[in-house]
Amino acid sequence: MECKEVQKNIHSFIDDQLDSKESLAFIEHIKKCPNCKEELSIEFLVVTGLQRLDDAEAFDLQRELEDKIKTNEENALRRKKMSRIGFWLLIFIAVIAGYYVSMLFYM
Ligand SMILES: [Zn+2]
Repeated sequence: MECKEVQKNIHSFIDDQLDSKESLAFIEHIKKCPNCKEELSIEFLVVTGLQRLDDAEAFDLQRELEDKIKTNEENALRRKKMSRIGFWLLIFIAVIAGYYVSMLFYM
């Protein structure tokens, strides 16, 4: 993912609207690119900070952002793994089904 695309996706990331593939590409870039990380931090502070202005509780947004990145990455990885398992399961079922169908023909 390039910087331009990452910066276009910052809002979607904050709103949790990226799919797992996009999330991973996004996070991978954020980890390597200080500019985009900075951009994300600022956006996150602005968006979340504005929502919380009325809250009296002290908030540590920088840490919240780190947590968000981490949770997002874990979820994306989990979803990716699940879909891979689903894929192999489907192939497995197809093979079994194919086997039974061919049995019918040989009987
Ligand atoms: Zn970048």
